[in-house]
Amino acid sequence: MNASASSTPDPVIDTEFVRRWLSLATSAIEHKSGWLTELDSAIGDADHGINMHRGFTAASAAVEKEPSDTPGEILTHVGRQLISSVGGAAGPLYGTLLRRAGKALGDQPTVSAEELRVALRSGIDAVAQLGRSERGDKTMLDSLYPAVEAMGLALGSGSGLVAALTAARTAADEGAAATVPMLARKGRASYLGERSIGHQDPGATSAALLIAAFAEAAGADTA
Ligand code: ADP
Ligand code: MG
Repeated sequence: MNASASSTPDPVIDTEFVRRWLSLATSAIEHKSGWLTELDSAIGDADHGINMHRGFTAASAAVEKEPSDTPGEILTHVGRQLISSVGGAAGPLYGTLLRRAGKALGDQPTVSAEELRVALRSGIDAVAQLGRSERGDKTMLDSLYPAVEAMGLALGSGSGLVAALTAARTAADEGAAATVPMLARKGRASYLGERSIGHQDPGATSAALLIAAFAEAAGADTA
C-alpha cells in the first residue's frame, strides 16, 4: 500500500460512487479514443475507440436521463446501453460484464468493496463465457482478471477500497502491457496469426481505463 492510498479515506460504494465512475470512465474513453482506435488499426479494424466512445456517451446520457436508485441498477443500465449502441465485439462483451456485475450487486443501496469485487469477477467470468475466451488469448480478459485478483489480494490482506482499487489499476495496466508479446487467439486480431504479436490489445487497454476510473472514483491519486 502506498502512502497516498492509505491516507485517502474509503468512500461508500453507493449510486454517487457509480455515477462518478461512469463520468470518469466516459471522459477517459473520450480522451483516449484516438489511441484505442490506433491500437485497433494495428491488429483489428480501427474502430475500438469509436465504439467505446459511442457506447459510453450513450450510457452516460441514458443514466443521466433516467435516475437509478442503486449501484446495481446503474451498472445494469450502462450494460444494456453498451449492448444496444455498440456494433463491435466489445459492446456486447462489456455490456455483458456490466449487466452481470449489476445483477450480482442486487438492489442494495450501498455495497462493500468485497461485494464489488465479487460482482466484477462474475461479470468477467460472463465475458469469458460469452467470448469463449480465456486469459492469455490477448483480449480484455488479460487486464480484467489480474485487476480483480489484485483487488482480492489487497482486500484479503486488510486493505481498504482505495488501496484495493489502486492495486487493481496497476495490475490492469501491467496486464494490458503484457498483451504485447501475445499471439491473439480470439476476435479480429486472431485472423492475423503471428502478425498480431508485438501490438498491445485495444480491449485490454480500454479495460484498464475502466478499472482506473474505479480507482479515481474512490479518490485514488491519478496515476
Ligand atoms: P471488433 O473486433 O468487432 O471491431 P472492437 O474493436 O470494439 O470490436 O473490440 C475489440 C476488442 O474486443 C479486442 O481488442 C479484444 O480485447 C476484445 N475481444 C474480441 N473478441 C473477444 C473475445 N472472444 N473474448 C474477449 N474479448 C474479446
Ligand atoms: Mg475493432
